[in-house]
Amino acid sequence: MSDKLTDYELERYSRQTALAHFSVESQEILKAAKVAIVGIGGLGANSSMLLAAMGVGNFRLIDRDVVEISNLHRTPLYYPDDYEKSKAEAASYRLMQLNPTIETEIHATELDGSNVKALLKGVDVVVDGLDRFAPRMLINRACKELGIPFVFAGVVGMAANLSTFTYGEGPCLSCIFGGVDDAELPTCETIGVHTSAVAITAAIQANEVTRLLTGLPPVLENSLLYIDLETLAFDRISILQREDCEVCGAASRPPPAEQQRVVELCGRDSYIIPSPGNVQINIEEAKKTLEQKFTISTAGDFALTFQWEDIKISLMAGGNALIKGTKEPEEAKNLYDEIIKLISPHIMKQG
Ligand SMILES: [Zn+2]
Repeated sequence: MSDKLTDYELERYSRQTALAHFSVESQEILKAAKVAIVGIGGLGANSSMLLAAMGVGNFRLIDRDVVEISNLHRTPLYYPDDYEKSKAEAASYRLMQLNPTIETEIHATELDGSNVKALLKGVDVVVDGLDRFAPRMLINRACKELGIPFVFAGVVGMAANLSTFTYGEGPCLSCIFGGVDDAELPTCETIGVHTSAVAITAAIQANEVTRLLTGLPPVLENSLLYIDLETLAFDRISILQREDCEVCGAASRPPPAEQQRVVELCGRDSYIIPSPGNVQINIEEAKKTLEQKFTISTAGDFALTFQWEDIKISLMAGGNALIKGTKEPEEAKNLYDEIIKLISPHIMKQG
């Protein structure tokens, strides 16, 4: 499927359509395409920015978090004004400033086993902007079942890993990283992350996405690229399907029963409380209720941040919350339950 270009678009993309293996028709395909960006921190923000600039026409923007001051160093997408806004909402606004011809869908929610297929269904490619393997594994399985290519990438410190999965004869994410435990991996918070590592990784992702969309074979199919900016090493190794892979191998098994939803530690004294299920909170109405009791610091259409004594709470439209300033997970959980009770008339069950 493709959409005809306007005169403005023909001019805007003229240096792109002049490329070998790229044409006006390729550009029309990009315009009609829909890409899901899952995780719009440094990596997803950079990838989506490049793809929007290049003329990918439709974005599904998925993130459970709000923009923090500590995000700003690694992406030019967010501005200081975006502080405490939902990342999906802020990204949508900035991407449309960058390229007013695009369209976006905002999902300020956490991707989990109950919603992953609904969130990804109908897109042409899924772009990984996450920093954990647990949700990536959910995406990997959903993409295999839905037949959607997945452009995986992880960046930390000065290094990155990338691969593209198309779910034909080749391997999947679980074939190579099946047993990885997020708790044992370094994070951007513990060892930092270099903006150049994020930018180069996003640029390679954008190349993979545009190749997939325009019918060229992705460069990183059946291979894993490891980049280290300390040495400028680019090591590409071949990867094979693992026969005993739980997702794509002969021994494929149904997914484990969804693990109990857990309160997750994210940084010092900070917790992410999962959504109670497939819900949508009317943030505007919730604000009216909560401002009678708490001090609201930021309110958008998809996230609300407020203060209760020394504790800061960001409530996302998808129902999950970030709670900062408490040492006890139980305290965070109780506070969340209290807030949900207060705003229950403004919570709608989905699907
Ligand atoms: Zn596999």
